[in-house]
Amino acid sequence: MAYIEFKNVEKYFGSNHVLKGIHMEIEKGQFVTLLGPSGCGKSTLLRCLAGLETIDGGEIYLDGEEITHKEPKDRNIGMVFQHYSLFPNMTVEENIAFGLKLKKMDNAEIKRRVADAIRMVELEGKEKQHPVNLSGGQQQRVALARSIVMEPKVLLLDEPLSAIDAKLRKSLQASIKQITKKLGLTAVFVTHDQDEAMVMSDVIHLFHDGQIEQSGDPVSVYTKPVSSFAAGFIGNYNLLKPEEFELVTGRKREDNREVALRPETFSISHQPIMNEDEYHFEGIVESNSPRGNVLRYTVNINGIPIHIDALFRSRVLFEDGSKVYVSVAEKNCIAL
Ligand code: ADP
Ligand code: MG
Repeated sequence: MAYIEFKNVEKYFGSNHVLKGIHMEIEKGQFVTLLGPSGCGKSTLLRCLAGLETIDGGEIYLDGEEITHKEPKDRNIGMVFQHYSLFPNMTVEENIAFGLKLKKMDNAEIKRRVADAIRMVELEGKEKQHPVNLSGGQQQRVALARSIVMEPKVLLLDEPLSAIDAKLRKSLQASIKQITKKLGLTAVFVTHDQDEAMVMSDVIHLFHDGQIEQSGDPVSVYTKPVSSFAAGFIGNYNLLKPEEFELVTGRKREDNREVALRPETFSISHQPIMNEDEYHFEGIVESNSPRGNVLRYTVNINGIPIHIDALFRSRVLFEDGSKVYVSVAEKNCIAL
């Protein structure tokens, strides 16, 4: 049996069917991400696991035991939210110690555990500070320490980085990943950001409208989308209907299926391209936009706009309006 199991979990809010027969297995020590657009049921599933919502059907198991009807306080699950909700009148140390004090743990043990947790989240020196004097990232580190100090069976993280600016977010991503691995914690992380899911996860479960659309490790979810929803959500795929595929490549597909093509799988050049790709065609550059270390071109091919990524080497390589040669291999054309 897996460490955590959802069996056919159903949840309604009134007539809104929010979780539609969720089956999910999570192994001990895994870092699992629930990825999907806003409103698809990610937070609800986390809250059901934590016992903050009751379920209308199915069962939930943790560590070999059914917990479907257990009180939240008896589940031994830690939770970190987007909003840190620290006690403003308590110091960092006091915030982290709070849960242990409620448990009436002896003071020396509390002291030791709090010091360990502070070291873990790299807040040494901030012990006596109040939350108001900390950055958002530091406050989230306190919230993380407050959870891990309880030594939970599972750590739930509901979009914990959404309110944190981009630069700090990267370092906090790394810290969260590192800490959970070091402690061997089982973590369930929620995000709507595909890049974050790619970086953090052992396993991604892609949610769509109360159901799991696709599950797998980041590379397989990225490179082998199972549906147009998956391809549209992860990997910035171009999605071509069979007739559009024929217009672009000049070849008719026998299977008559929609085709997904990732922007970075194309070759693009001012000169005709000599390579072994099955499909070669010409187009006109319509626009470009920088995206970190790549430039994303929109190339018009027989009236179909195609996104093509090229490494960004400090200047625009293909001017708008210029003619380009493009190729792509059949193995990168994913039939959906
Ligand atoms: P996500 O976390 O994926 O953005 P949620 O799980 O928060 O999505 O919400 C899923 C659906 O359930 C949404 O339609 C939302 O409006 C609804 N919902 C969530 N919580 C409640 C609630 N407490 N009462 C009524 N509807 C809710
Ligand atoms: Mg949510």
